[in-house]
Amino acid sequence: MNEPIQSIKILGVLGAGQMGAGIAQVAAQAGYAVQLADVTLEQASRGRDGIAKILQKSVDKGKLAAADREAALASIVPALGVEGLADCDLVVEAATENIELKKRLFEALDRAVKPGAILASNTSSISITLLAAVTRRPESVVGMHFMNPVPVMKLVEIIRGLQTSDQTYAATMGLAQRLNKTTITSKDSPGFIVNRILIPLINEACFALQEGLGAAEDIDTGAKLGLNHPMGPLELADLIGLDTCLAIADVLHRELGDDKYRAANVLRMHVAAGWLGRKSGRGFYDYRKG
Ligand code: NAD
Repeated sequence: MNEPIQSIKILGVLGAGQMGAGIAQVAAQAGYAVQLADVTLEQASRGRDGIAKILQKSVDKGKLAAADREAALASIVPALGVEGLADCDLVVEAATENIELKKRLFEALDRAVKPGAILASNTSSISITLLAAVTRRPESVVGMHFMNPVPVMKLVEIIRGLQTSDQTYAATMGLAQRLNKTTITSKDSPGFIVNRILIPLINEACFALQEGLGAAEDIDTGAKLGLNHPMGPLELADLIGLDTCLAIADVLHRELGDDKYRAANVLRMHVAAGWLGRKSGRGFYDYRKG
């Protein structure tokens, strides 16, 4: 068994979508060298371009020095696929929420990334024990579940698989603290703590919509002003991505085996239509006109 590396210098991020880019940004701003990988180098570079724009807005608002923006960007290097992450001390996998894909990626990461490196998943719902089991280093696999948007949200949920070693857990907690995050630890159970609570709430809002209890605006305003939530569940679902919400709901339903977790048809239909929320320009709301 390889000893997990305690001092993490190079951090890999696999998947340069909204979460992967957010993780790369906070890691770079905390002083890590970051390799940001996606299926193609173009997709990885697009993720880095998005970070450049976000950091520029902070500079324009006077919240960030231009030199700090340049330094953060200089430490994020776009990389091609799993092979581009070979030298990393810890990789956070933040690819699409799909069990078969993540199993393939963990097998490939295990082959490509140097021995002893920690392999973390930002999965919202998929078993860490299951992902660890496809590798030859199950003791070095852990869940590191960031919240969206990563630079804004303080929480990181740490998930120990059955095989996760104390060293891996301690190194991951240390990294989260260095990223200035607050941690909670969850048992490896479908949806962990946060999505076990959130996704049934979002799904119930979808049922309320499909049963015609009110318009999307009524449901969201009800949650905001009636429950003191900062965002309504439908607008939050649009921010998360309706494909991601559906994937999590399906994991909860299948793994927990209780029909109370079955996804509302309106959610499934929106995903089938390609209306994935903000990232596709349309979800429960229309973002195409800004
Ligand atoms: P996204 O759709 O914005 O990005 C997913 C990225 O993964 C894309 O850039 C895609 O090209 C890439 N990808 C797909 N297959 C790949 C492969 N084989 N190799 C490398 N990259 C690949 O999704 P997201 O919202 O960033 O979610 C990513 C992960 O983070 C999911 O596991 C999701 O459950 C989790 N997560 C999402 C949120 C959220 O609010 N969206 C919050 C916490 C965790």
